This record gives sequence, C-alpha cells and structure tokens, in this order.
Amino acid sequence: TLSDRLSDTFKNLRGKGRLSEADIDATAREIRIALLEADVALPVVKEFTAAIKERARGEEVSQALNPAQQIVKIVNEELIEILGGETRRLRFAKTGPTVIMLAGLQGAGKTTLAAKLALWLKEQGKSPLLVACDLQRPNAVNQLQVNGERVGVPVFAPEPGNGTGNPVAVAQASIEEATRKLYDVVIVDTAGRLGVDAEMMQQAKDIRAAVNPDEVLFVVDAMIGQDAVNTALAFQEGVGFDGVVLTKLDGDARGGAALSIRSITGKPVMFASAGEKMTDFDLFHPDRMAGRILDMGDMLTLIEQAEKVFDQEQALKAAEKLSGKGDFTLDDFLTQMQQIRKLGSMSKIMGMLPGMGQFKDALANFDEREIDRIQAIIQSMTPAERANPKILDGSRRLRIAKGSGRQVSDVNQLVDRFNEAKKMMLQLANGGGIPGMGPVPG
Ligand code: GDP
Ligand code: MG
Repeated sequence: TLSDRLSDTFKNLRGKGRLSEADIDATAREIRIALLEADVALPVVKEFTAAIKERARGEEVSQALNPAQQIVKIVNEELIEILGGETRRLRFAKTGPTVIMLAGLQGAGKTTLAAKLALWLKEQGKSPLLVACDLQRPNAVNQLQVNGERVGVPVFAPEPGNGTGNPVAVAQASIEEATRKLYDVVIVDTAGRLGVDAEMMQQAKDIRAAVNPDEVLFVVDAMIGQDAVNTALAFQEGVGFDGVVLTKLDGDARGGAALSIRSITGKPVMFASAGEKMTDFDLFHPDRMAGRILDMGDMLTLIEQAEKVFDQEQALKAAEKLSGKGDFTLDDFLTQMQQIRKLGSMSKIMGMLPGMGQFKDALANFDEREIDRIQAIIQSMTPAERANPKILDGSRRLRIAKGSGRQVSDVNQLVDRFNEAKKMMLQLANGGGIPGMGPVPG
C-alpha cells in the first residue's frame, strides 16, 4: 500500500535535516508505484507526483516537521485537493420536485443506492419518490420495490405485467405524479449493461431529456479499478453527469478510482456507499478518503501536533519582539504585578477583557499581600535567575526560599504562576495588549 511504501522510503530520510533532490526523486518514485497499485490512472499519477515534487522542492517546506513528516503532509494535502477539496452537496430545485437521475453499469449499485439515498433524504425531512426505469431486467422493478419497502419510500413503477414498457414514459409520468402528490425529490433508477453500449446510452440520454434532472449521478463500483476511468468517460460523453457516487467502498478498493475519476472527468465524488445495509451511505469526504489512501492516521496526528507546537513557539517569539524585549523575565513579572496593583483589583481588569475568563480565576488569587511575598522571593534571586527561571533547580529554590523566609513550595508556586503569566502575555500580545496599558508587558 501507499502507507507501506512511504514508510520504507522514510526510513532512508530519517535523521536528515533537509530533503535532497535524490530523496525527493526516490520518494516520488515510491508514491508513483503505490498509486498505480491502488489503481489510479497513469496520467493522474504523473500529474500527482509532479505536484508533490514541486512542492517538496519549494520553499513551503516547514521548519516544524522532519523530512518524512513534510512529505506525508504534502501528499495528504495534495490527495485532498485532487479528490475535490470540499464535499460537494446536492443542489435542490427551487420550485417543484428535485429530480435526481442515476446512471451507471449494471451491478454498479444503482438500485441499492437509490434506496439508500432516499432514506438519507427522508431522514433530512424530504419526501422522496423512487422511480423504476430499469425495465430491462425482469426482476429490476421488483428489486427497487423491495428496497423501497425497506426504507419506507414509495416506488413509482409501470403496472404489473407491463414490465417491458417504455422507461422514458415512466420517467415522465413519475414527475407528474410527484408534482401532484407533493413529493419533493424524485430519484430515477435506470438500467445498465455489463459493458457500455450505444443503446443503453441512448436510453439514458432520452430519460435525461424527458425529466431534465437537477442532478445526474454517475454510480460506479470502486472495485472496478482502472476500468472506472474509461467507464466514467463513456458516461460523461454519452449521458453527461454532475457528480459521482462511489459504491462498494467496504471492499478492499483503495480509492484509486475516486482519485482518477475526479481528476479526469472534473466531476466531484458526492457520495460514498459502503455496504449492504441501507444506512451504509454518506456524503463523500475528500479528507477521509485521502486518509484511507494514505493510511497514515497516526502520522497525520503527529504532524498536526508538531505544527501546533511550532506555531506556539513562533507566536512566543513574535510576542517577545512586540514587547521590545528579548524575553519576559521575573523582573518584568514583578514590575507588572506592581503596575497592576496600582490599577486596582485584578479581577476587575480581567472582567473588562473579552475572552479572558480562563485567566480570571488564576489571577484573582493575587491579593496585595501575595504581591509582597512575590516581591520578597524574586528579590532573593540572582539577576541570572530572574532572567531565566529555567535554571532554578532544587538547591537554588531551597536557597531562595530561605533567603525570602518562604517555603520551597511558595517558590515553586511563583515559578508556575510566572509561567502562566508568560503564556498570558503571549495571548495579550497577539490580541494587542490590555487597553490603556500600553504595549505588553508594559
Ligand atoms: P445496479 O445494477 O447498478 O442497480 O446494482 P445493484 O444495486 O443491484 O447492486 C448490485 C449488487 O451490489 C447487489 O448485490 C448489491 O447488494 C451490491 N451492492 C450495492 N452497493 C453495495 C455496497 O456499497 N457494498 C457492497 N458490499 N455491496 C453493494
Ligand atoms: Mg438496478
């Protein structure tokens, strides 16, 4: 799988500070093989690896991540992009029933999907009508009726014994029925063949012309691999469609079809069907599919965390610059406490600031006497310790406690509060400081 291949490649990247041209080439090669194995069409693979290479070489390379993480991040983002980025939702008609027509090969899962989609819409408060326009196979109408019953949605079908009727006429009549009986969505199930053929295409085209659908959905079995692209192109040319539904994603298909179809037809995958149950159906989420193709959930979580930490460090540096000082020290902390004492009660000040509720409790604990105690402790420290409290080890803390007549636990508490305040400074600096107090930390 792509995940396995990338993992192997990344072993070679471990310990490297930057990606060399050779690293990028080797990684791109592995991605290429993995995508081909996942049944992604060759032109799509080429385009994809070219995009990965370009980005990996570019200046986008993040300082927060190691080379392997960088590549995974880039691959993940490009996968999401090529899968359509955002989920594309159904467009409903402004007036009259919304007409959704299904097209696709026999066995693709149209009839099953028709009922799943009907149930899904029903759960959103719609009142759908299923329409049986597959009059090709003797059992097709009955199959839709059985499925319709399972989800409690009525089925419009030709009269029994009239199974060889005209599907275009049935489709047309169903719209009149829906309008008359106030169904707001009409789902038209159509016939398919095992292979693409002209007669079937013509029939689908005629149905399309007769009912003028709001959405034509091309239903495709995700397991058919490389054939998916040719089938999709044939339907795009023969009938035309607005969106794609991938079925049988519960199988071991790796999602290559999704990638190829979206990329080659330019039509979004809108729904994913993944099982025999009527509820095994949902909107298609490009990010989830990317995750499935990449199969590196843990790595992606790690990347997210690494970037978050890095962002915080960056923000801290920015805050320091903003304050005009190299660092926020215990001396600054003391100065600030004294200023705040002048300004009145802390909780009152905090109460004035939007979004500061989380600090309110911590800071409300600083009463007047406590500021005196803080002062005593800080003044018992050497300048170096005040500038960099990180050097305060156990023996230093003990010495400071003795010097200020406090307990070691008081010293520890002060350091904790200082760290808390430092964090707060960061927030204030990002948010522009306390109104009327000048630049932070004052
Ligand atoms: P149609 O010929 O396009 O109408 O396809 P059908 O709806 O009749 O489905 C063909 C077969 O695929 C049936 O046996 C369905 O039960 C099965 N099927 C449809 N969708 C799924 C799916 O998402 N997962 C699985 N495992 N089977 C499915
Ligand atoms: Mg069918």
